[in-house]
Amino acid sequence: TTSWMAIGQENAFTWIERDIGIAFGEWDMPTVDRKTFMSSRPGVFFGGDAAWGPENIIWAVAHGHQAAISIDAFCNGRDLDTRPGPGVNLASQKMGIHEWSYSNDYDPLSRVAVPHAELVASLKNLKMEVELGYDDQLAAKEAERCLNCDVQTVFTRSLCIECDACMDICPVDCINFTENDDEADLRRELRVPAMNKSQDLYVSDVLPTGRIMAKDEDVCLHCGLCAERCPTGAWDMQKFMYVEAQVTPAVLHHHNAYLV
Ligand code: SF4
Ligand code: SF4
Repeated sequence: TTSWMAIGQENAFTWIERDIGIAFGEWDMPTVDRKTFMSSRPGVFFGGDAAWGPENIIWAVAHGHQAAISIDAFCNGRDLDTRPGPGVNLASQKMGIHEWSYSNDYDPLSRVAVPHAELVASLKNLKMEVELGYDDQLAAKEAERCLNCDVQTVFTRSLCIECDACMDICPVDCINFTENDDEADLRRELRVPAMNKSQDLYVSDVLPTGRIMAKDEDVCLHCGLCAERCPTGAWDMQKFMYVEAQVTPAVLHHHNAYLV
């Protein structure tokens, strides 16, 4: 296997002969299969900016993983369309009754302004650095604004006694105990209508009173107040962890060991 690493300002494939079976399409980019990362010439793979134009480094690394899976399958004569899944995990962050492994304090702080050098001094000396950056205290304050999107609210239906306490305490009213309905109607009928349709609703199975729990994930602050208030532990705050698909289950298991 030969791999080329390309660093530059823009894609240019003048070095690839046009009669070797690699098709080029829009913007003179190679035609690459979105799933397998293989070009129209079997055994030649593309990823990163070279596949579909500029994306960020995170996507480039993910492409590398997926292309490696394809290359391994190709070299071993396996079907490239049969893809291993990623490793995912949910782990409770509960440390005590009202204590979590992450800072969950709900505080609607505004962005902390970056301190600037004194105006008169910086105008006198144009070489002076104007943005001074955060000191430790300001950095910690700014970090508190993190919404902890990796920490999920996980609902266990069998533990819920339908006391509605979590619904009362949620600062953004995103928890609902209500009659089930068609999705479009349910979205409208929630205490705060869930109008961002690209975000799935979190809906439980039917509870003993015939209601369901429906939660609009789009506005949840991950503050954990619902889990703190719940008398039965029906809500838990669990960290979602993800490991990109690996070539073999053994490699995935190795990575997963670090996630638990
Ligand atoms: S984590 Fe906070 S914002 Fe999210 S559902 Fe629970 S109480 Fe509401
Ligand atoms: S606080 Fe707990 S038991 Fe009460 S309704 Fe909410 S999830 Fe159910």
